[in-house]
Amino acid sequence: MKFTTKLLHGNVSPNAETGATTPPIYQSAAFYQQSAAAMEKIFSGKKPGFVYTRVNNPTIDYFERRMTLLEGGVGSVACSSGMAAVSLAVLNILKSGDEIVSGSGIFGGTYSFFNGLSAYGIKTNYAQKSTTTCFEKYITANTRLIFLETIGNPKLDVPDIKAFSQLAHKYHIPLIIDNTAATPYLIQPLKHGADIVVHSVSKFIDGGGNSIGGTIIDSGRFKWTEDKFPLIKNFTQYGPFCYLAKLRAGLFKDIGTCMAPLNAYLINLGLDTLSLRMERVCASANRLASYLKNCSKIKAVNYPGLPENPDHETAKRQFGDKYGAILTIRVGTKEKAFTLIDNLKYALNAANIGDSKTLVIHPASTIYAADTEEQKANAGVYDDLIRICVGLEDIEDIEEDFKQALAKI
Ligand SMILES: *Cc1c(COP(=O)(O)O)cnc(C)c1O
Repeated sequence: MKFTTKLLHGNVSPNAETGATTPPIYQSAAFYQQSAAAMEKIFSGKKPGFVYTRVNNPTIDYFERRMTLLEGGVGSVACSSGMAAVSLAVLNILKSGDEIVSGSGIFGGTYSFFNGLSAYGIKTNYAQKSTTTCFEKYITANTRLIFLETIGNPKLDVPDIKAFSQLAHKYHIPLIIDNTAATPYLIQPLKHGADIVVHSVSKFIDGGGNSIGGTIIDSGRFKWTEDKFPLIKNFTQYGPFCYLAKLRAGLFKDIGTCMAPLNAYLINLGLDTLSLRMERVCASANRLASYLKNCSKIKAVNYPGLPENPDHETAKRQFGDKYGAILTIRVGTKEKAFTLIDNLKYALNAANIGDSKTLVIHPASTIYAADTEEQKANAGVYDDLIRICVGLEDIEDIEEDFKQALAKI
């Protein structure tokens, strides 16, 4: 079965009771069990079943099964947001004294979260470049995971996942990948050796900009050793499911970061069209990048699809000649960047990616406003830089929109 058929039919089927072809919204907090003995079994994990939506729910389960299949994992946990997924994915295995090695061009919220972990005794070291040589310099005896994005947002760097999985495994630590910007349509990092994948499904998985959600998918392959990961000790009886069992019974349940059933329903609908949307936005972004490169008022265009981009070959090999929807441009000054944004008619000024509409933002004055100049430079953020995330519009109209707005700067 190929990707899109799998997306629509794999691991899920019409509703067993009613035949509904769209998964129903189970907008219920709790689920009745006929006997106390059955409830006991479900609670102890000896029998599958639904108890309470903070732990699991049929609409959310339907979405989880789809994401598990699309990313090629053994299971997944849907979360209330992408940030819930990122934070729980790492906190599930870390304790005070542990360290993370992360890329520096990562999503601003993740960067802020990692920095905040220092209050709990967890330190993050940021490698300036997404190369294994640069990362290896930051690995110490306390490092417990490597964290990267398949396409750094907003740096747009593209790490070689296979090489990073070899590096992580050399030190017996997992490789955790945020696959939000590429989606499983472009790459399934677990197949390239990553151990755990996270997503903000608020973006391309949903695709309509209508819901916040996240997901954590586990390959089930990582060998958690007790010396490095003592917290996983009580869950080793679950074999390849031990990471997810610990997560669902632990912080996920205890902090209370479940996805809302209504959001799961909307995201399930959005997911149906993932392939069509990704095909469209990748083609449109590639065309817009080439167009903007030839505009005299634009100083630089960053897009992995451009042949001169330093990560072009890695991206081409990993993503099958598709490069995602996000590009950045530099226009010379912050004032010009603001004027350009203010004059765009269709491209909306909004702090999001993966919407059906084209979105732009000035990262330096918004998402990265609290960072130092050095931190911004490491993240690929400059005062004159605009991030563009191409939507589903007719690309001729978006080109025209940039043309008229560029005439005003
Ligand atoms: C948006 C985003 C997140 C955070 O997701 P939310 O759903 O907004 O919490 C994490 N990683 C990446 C790459 C993102 O773009």
